[in-house]
Amino acid sequence: MPRPAKPKTTTPSAKPLENPQALQNALLAWYAQNARPLPWRTTTLPYPIWLAEIMLQQTTVAAVIPYHARFLARFPNLQSLAEAPIDDVLHLWQGLGYYRRAHLLHRCAQTLWQAGGVWPTTPEGLQKLPGFGAYTAGAVASCAFNTPALAIDGNVVRVISRLMACPATVTPAHPAIIATTQALANSAPPRAFTNALMELGSQICTSKSPKCLLCPWQNQCKAFAQGTPTAYPIKPAKPTRPTKHGVAYVLRDETGNLWLQQRPTEGLLGGLWETPHTGWEANTPALSTLPEDYTEAGHITHVFTHFTLVLDVRCASVKTIPAAHRFAPENLPPLSTLMKKTLRCAGVTV
Ligand code: SF4
Repeated sequence: MPRPAKPKTTTPSAKPLENPQALQNALLAWYAQNARPLPWRTTTLPYPIWLAEIMLQQTTVAAVIPYHARFLARFPNLQSLAEAPIDDVLHLWQGLGYYRRAHLLHRCAQTLWQAGGVWPTTPEGLQKLPGFGAYTAGAVASCAFNTPALAIDGNVVRVISRLMACPATVTPAHPAIIATTQALANSAPPRAFTNALMELGSQICTSKSPKCLLCPWQNQCKAFAQGTPTAYPIKPAKPTRPTKHGVAYVLRDETGNLWLQQRPTEGLLGGLWETPHTGWEANTPALSTLPEDYTEAGHITHVFTHFTLVLDVRCASVKTIPAAHRFAPENLPPLSTLMKKTLRCAGVTV
């Protein structure tokens, strides 16, 4: 079916909903029948709920479930996470991506534990902790403590902008989105409302194929009435994603140990380990400190949010590897998916 034409971009009107109470009732009734028993929903403890909310940023529920279980098994409470070395946390985070989240998670656990281990119960109090923005604070306050608070992320923006047929680009901080979500939440049980709205966004009002015929909001939804649900939310023009190039060197000594170096804690893939490389900013700059005698192993492509990276992978032998950089292949430090791809390209099993 051809995609319907997008409406013109104008200032969004925040026309009040015709009957927000009916929408709230329909949503809560639908949720009571359709809620998935996700591990972080069957508890009201803040620790597992917070852990899930951090992991779910930019990541699907299906991907998060096994990580969440492994984290709780290894770090069952705030104290165990606060007292763990960051490398242990990064080890468990490997493959989940957006590693800054792991650093903030660890820093938050340490901050909270050092302050006595008592969680703030309001969004304002939670937002003083590392890694808490407005969404995470609203989600933890409402889901763990049943505090009235809005948790508006991209999924909620999608549902609300369709419900309103919002005729412009909107963000979670847009007054029209906040006012409408507030009107819908009015006096509802906070925990149930937050979870129900998230569930509607992930199960029914999905990005590409909304299941409008199953939706409890169908009779008041303006985008459905227009026949154009996927035209909303109106997206800003996407910047093109540049491609960067680099060369990675997989260096091994005679016994097969690998040469790895740790990235700075702050920034992309912070604190993870990697092979020596040329940097990603220019096309294969000349190197004086790396071996000239190498074999080409191939190249890998990795897509980051803001750029695509193409890495040529070269293998070389070195006589000795400094102790701080020497790792046996069966005992590697935390690595990103990019580095695992790099090592696999060079024939290392990771
Ligand atoms: Fe989303 Fe369709 Fe429901 Fe509207 S009717 S809220 S577009 S699923």
